[in-house]
Amino acid sequence: MLRFMASKVRLYVDHPLGVGQSVPLNRDQAHYLFGVMRLGVGGVISLINSRDGEWDAIVEKAGNKGGVLACQAQTRGLQTPPDLWLVFAPIRKERTAFIVEKAVELGAARIMPVRTDFTQSANRIRTDKLQAHAIEASEQCGGTFVPPVDDLVKLERLLADWPKDRQLMFCDETAIGAPVRLPVMPGPWAVLIGPEGGFSPAERDKLRALPFAHAVSLGPRILRADTAAVAALTLWQQALGDWG
Ligand code: SAH
Repeated sequence: MLRFMASKVRLYVDHPLGVGQSVPLNRDQAHYLFGVMRLGVGGVISLINSRDGEWDAIVEKAGNKGGVLACQAQTRGLQTPPDLWLVFAPIRKERTAFIVEKAVELGAARIMPVRTDFTQSANRIRTDKLQAHAIEASEQCGGTFVPPVDDLVKLERLLADWPKDRQLMFCDETAIGAPVRLPVMPGPWAVLIGPEGGFSPAERDKLRALPFAHAVSLGPRILRADTAAVAALTLWQQALGDWG
């Protein structure tokens, strides 16, 4: 007999999850579950909320504008990524969305857009939209944790407030061609990726002088910022993260 491993619909809710917990749905969620996914009363889905792991929930009420789910049992505990921040300069809208999506899949704990000297002012960001992308990516990749997406801050400000015990993998395009080496130091880390125009000489001087910053090459070619983010997160996860 041919059996399908029908994968359950996964949904993020900003609501506590626990045995018998009833979870109200807003209009968008109801539209997605009952309109798009054609679920009805009695249907079972997976819920995540970034705190309580993953739960099976059954549809109790299904309407056009809302609905109610009832939590049944936990199917997985909360799995948080390593303590790795992704700090990056926003680029064009769809490429910034790509960076956020890949950061969630690759396992970043926090996503922090920064304005650098050469960040194009046209590259405005909508934090709420980027957070929605992070939620969607987590729903799709089977994650139980959704990294927060911060509001845009100036790189200068971020570095002034930097926690001194957090190492910074400074992806420096002028290190191009140097051996790709990440110092193996345990503890919290962050990856820093510059904008299309790269870092300004002043930023580079400043970064290179910071004791917690480690200038790292990403190989012999110049990568686009979105590719660089994926490459750097992969390197870090392989060397120091939860891929080993
Ligand atoms: N316009 C710049 C390149 C910017 S690439 C130039 O021509 O030099 C965007 C960002 O990706 C860089 O700021 C850096 O953080 C990262 N990056 C891209 N290629 C890299 C490489 N080979 N080594 C280290 N970082 C790199």
